[in-house]
Amino acid sequence: MPVLPPLRKPTLILRCALLAVSGLVCATTVLALGTHQVPVAPPKLPPKAPPTLVPRTVSELCAQMVRRLPNLSSAVCARAQLVQGAVASNSIKGTPIFQRDVISDNAHLRVLVIGGIHGDELSSTALVLNWIGAAMETPSNIHWRFVPLMNPDGMLQDKPTRTNARGVDLNRNFPTPNWDKEAPNYWRQRTKNDPRRYPGPQPLSEPESRWLHDQMAQWKPNLIVSVHAPYGVLDFDGPTVAPQRLGRLYLDQVGIFPGSLGNYGGVHKKVPVVTIELPSAIRTPQEAEIRQMWLDLLRWTAERLGAN
Ligand SMILES: [Zn+2]
Repeated sequence: MPVLPPLRKPTLILRCALLAVSGLVCATTVLALGTHQVPVAPPKLPPKAPPTLVPRTVSELCAQMVRRLPNLSSAVCARAQLVQGAVASNSIKGTPIFQRDVISDNAHLRVLVIGGIHGDELSSTALVLNWIGAAMETPSNIHWRFVPLMNPDGMLQDKPTRTNARGVDLNRNFPTPNWDKEAPNYWRQRTKNDPRRYPGPQPLSEPESRWLHDQMAQWKPNLIVSVHAPYGVLDFDGPTVAPQRLGRLYLDQVGIFPGSLGNYGGVHKKVPVVTIELPSAIRTPQEAEIRQMWLDLLRWTAERLGAN
């Protein structure tokens, strides 16, 4: 039997590492020889993607919107200073429906501007957030109420959806006359049961559409502007002369649907509803176009509502 030379401590440490012997055995041996213990590093796992949190505060909502929405800076979102209004409500998952009022001293007309009622129309929310800044720079006799994201659950999913968290198209859930018959029939026969256009089990079955309905009943807006995408036109329902264009968008009235906001507000409640269809759901218009649309909207409100 050859006599092995006594092991020196550094050699033992090296061998342990090379042979990948259990850290426990090595450490025990090394310790027995009176040396320092080599810490056993925990295995390196790939970093886990954090689960998508349901935003409950404005800063959480802004963080998620800035990450997802096209051309939206955190400065624009922070400047919007969203808050929960007096008519507080949450989405199905629990995100507050945030709003921002911009009021000049002599404001007496009320205009409600809604974005993101369809969660996969990302540019609509970005536009409304930009318009909050524009309203702050444009004194008028209008009390503006901006609601950039009516359907947070739909927009903030990994894959944004048109419908809310219960699969309801909020823009088919308003209580138009004969909804019980017309909305389900339209869905079955005209959309062939398209899940993206499911009107819900009954009118106002969803907290988001109930919230908007309550806003209309209590705050009584003189005008509602609802921003959508991606058809690149203007639509209008209501008792006054429609705007002919906003920026590059021209009037093209596409008809009414059972349960839609335009039908409920404009036709049934006689509150003018301007429906803006931006040309892309995933690209926000350029700054100059956002500004031009805003100026055209102001001009039309002055002509038709007496705004200044
Ligand atoms: Zn839409």
